[in-house]
Amino acid sequence: MSAGLGPILRRAASGAGVTPEEATRLIRIPAEGLPDLLGAAAALRDRGRGRTITYSRKVFIPLTNYCRDYCRYCTYRKDPGDPEGWFLTPEEVLRVARAGARLGCKEALFSLGDKPEAAFPEVRATLRRLGYHTTLKYLAAVSALVARETPLFPHANPGLMGRADLARLKASNVSVGLMLESASERLLRPGGAHDGAPDKVPSLRLKTMEAAGHLRLPFTTGILIGIGETLEERVEALAAIRALHGRYGHVQEVIVQNFRAKPGIPMRDAPEPTAADMARTIAVARLLLGPAMNIQAPPNLTPAEYRVYLHAGINDWGGVSPLTIDYINPEAPWPKLTELAAVTEGEGFRLRERLALYPEFIAREGFLAAGLAEKVRAAVDADGYPRTESTEPAAVHALAPAGVGAAGPRIWNAPSPNSRCVSELP
Ligand code: SF4
Repeated sequence: MSAGLGPILRRAASGAGVTPEEATRLIRIPAEGLPDLLGAAAALRDRGRGRTITYSRKVFIPLTNYCRDYCRYCTYRKDPGDPEGWFLTPEEVLRVARAGARLGCKEALFSLGDKPEAAFPEVRATLRRLGYHTTLKYLAAVSALVARETPLFPHANPGLMGRADLARLKASNVSVGLMLESASERLLRPGGAHDGAPDKVPSLRLKTMEAAGHLRLPFTTGILIGIGETLEERVEALAAIRALHGRYGHVQEVIVQNFRAKPGIPMRDAPEPTAADMARTIAVARLLLGPAMNIQAPPNLTPAEYRVYLHAGINDWGGVSPLTIDYINPEAPWPKLTELAAVTEGEGFRLRERLALYPEFIAREGFLAAGLAEKVRAAVDADGYPRTESTEPAAVHALAPAGVGAAGPRIWNAPSPNSRCVSELP
């Protein structure tokens, strides 16, 4: 191990915390020091979160894949006119949500592109037909519909939001998400991962997160690694999240997600982070964000090696769907819940379902809209976890939402019976 890091790690494992400068040294620890780094992070996780690893049973509602941004790693976004573009109607949203509820899902994860109406007249026309001016107002309306008409709890992940958008969403969403992804402005330069993505300006994303803090809105965020950032910039992004959480106490979970190269994207030849790189970053996130923070990493993006994340300090696997595919990473099927439980328990942990709102936020003054409190309390036990934990479904009905985009209504391919999804829209 590099000279001087042992005392930092021992202090960090005891819960005394690390500074961003120390975290910047730790993330560069040589390979032979990696077991010590992971060990300190795992010990800190055990102090704060114990040996329980959570997941959320969710149905993925991809409200629209039209987006005004052109992130160079994205396969999700489409332009109007693309035969694979869609914009779901309220009826289609309800159909997917109800199918998820029948399979025991608790969370309705709304994912969508960012402000497509700002770039495409076709989307403005679609919104007008539906009776709305902005996609975010439409999202608030269909979230409210799902919260009212189904047992599900919405969690929206729609890109940049203003204070009024967040306030509207708080009425029907138990939590809201926006990945910071990176604090690096460099990625917006020509050829960078965020070239052509005006909504990926880090300061704007931090502004949305700050507005959510003002509103006491439980918030999910995180970093996407392997998109051209340096190790130091990863720490800068995590430190920025820590600073906001320190001011408002509203960050309920931090995701560490790895870039995957896919055919057809501009970054198809970019190197992918290794599992060791993920583990190194997860460990530093744990040490920087402290024992109480929920740290999440998606298992489906490292299918052969995700068990190592348990020994790097995570305490959550994110969402698992028995119904819908991972629309953001459709080539990466989810492990079955039975496999996830076997891996988790095989490494000495207990797998437990949670809601889209972590237990510690349920009773915190002002963090849950009055209209949602009764529904949440009825769904959880004394510890704040779901009263009923669903088991693996024996069979899954086909999901076939029809779009109303410029290409007109269309039928989606049904996912395979064992498909799973877990992803936060970057
Ligand atoms: S990652 Fe999100 S914001 Fe970027 S292009 Fe894809 S859908 Fe749009």
